[in-house]
Amino acid sequence: TYTPHHVLVTGGAGFIGTNFVHFWLQQYPDTRLVILDALTYAGRYENLQPLEGQANFRFVHGDILDQPLVEQLLREETIDTIVHFAAESHVDRSIYGPDAFLKTNIDGTHSLLKAAKTVWLDEKPGFVHRFHHVSTDEVYGTLSATDPAFTEITPYAPNSPYAASKAASDHVIRAYQHTYGLQTTTSNCSNNYGPYQYPEKLIPLAISNLLQGKPVPIYGDGQQIRDWLYVDDHNRGIDLIIRTGRIGETYNIGGNNEQANLSLIHELCALLDARFPDSPHVPHNQHIVYVTDRPGHDRRYAIDNSKICSELGYVPAETFQSGLAKTLDWYLSHPDFWQGDVKLFGTHAPSTTLREQ
Ligand code: NAD
Repeated sequence: TYTPHHVLVTGGAGFIGTNFVHFWLQQYPDTRLVILDALTYAGRYENLQPLEGQANFRFVHGDILDQPLVEQLLREETIDTIVHFAAESHVDRSIYGPDAFLKTNIDGTHSLLKAAKTVWLDEKPGFVHRFHHVSTDEVYGTLSATDPAFTEITPYAPNSPYAASKAASDHVIRAYQHTYGLQTTTSNCSNNYGPYQYPEKLIPLAISNLLQGKPVPIYGDGQQIRDWLYVDDHNRGIDLIIRTGRIGETYNIGGNNEQANLSLIHELCALLDARFPDSPHVPHNQHIVYVTDRPGHDRRYAIDNSKICSELGYVPAETFQSGLAKTLDWYLSHPDFWQGDVKLFGTHAPSTTLREQ
């Protein structure tokens, strides 16, 4: 078993990274966490502000592409573990502006790898370390309704610029492990949901629109299937991999929750109807609008998580019902998070117009 002491978390002010930081410091308060985040539109320093002043926490506003900065942090904080979340993560944005995706996700990952190689391998031969890379199941492409779920040996077939950039980053991680002996692990997971997710993504967008009686945009026929993973279940999987996973391996993390987008929204509407029976927006499912499908939209993603379950003893804790209820509770008690200056993009933009009316 490996024990991290000084951890660099990239992208720790984004959705999954924020949840990871809070989860980790609750579980392991003796670890020191250094967060490196460029605070793009998707990163919010406020997510981490309550931790400011704690001896085990430091926030650095900076870019993973800045290799000298990363090297400086690795040295001065004697970092032994990198958990790499930082990325451009929204598929719609990647369709209209792929450059930032290739730059951050590929060059940014490579910049971190070069810094880690310099400080951990070249300067301190024999230094025990871990580099965990957080990736996506979208690298595997799309499934038909009857295809078996993605396993770790499913061939890569990315379809969007986002997925292609993540696939490339996975390959560069692999190459640094095989060529230089960097102690890396990779996880590929399905769609996450939970607190702190930027309201451009389906579940928080739907919650914020439904609460305001505004339409929820659904792509195409709404029958695209995603395998939903509660964010804390994802982070528990990452924790297991860092501590007990085998170096050079990749692990799929999934929540055993395949849902079509439309049935997910209906489930959310039913939850809201039950919570707010006197709301003027009941029944909430009347507030669904169908919009033109995303180009190249993958039909189905499904994760076979048997490797992490059997090798590392992973068990997801949440069902979709319990995770969705927790998520809704969080958004209800944090209106500032979704009522502020939200920058929507692409096909979801019509709801911005409605929001502004
Ligand atoms: P997010 O967009 O919410 O957050 C990304 C964070 O990275 C932001 O805080 C942003 O400021 C930061 N960032 C972006 N570019 C940076 C740079 N050049 N230097 C430093 N920081 C930078 O993303 P997320 O949903 O939390 O996803 C985190 C990771 O998990 C990503 O690598 C993503 O590909 C992967 N992932 C996400 C999901 C999902 O459902 N959200 C599913 C599978 C994999």
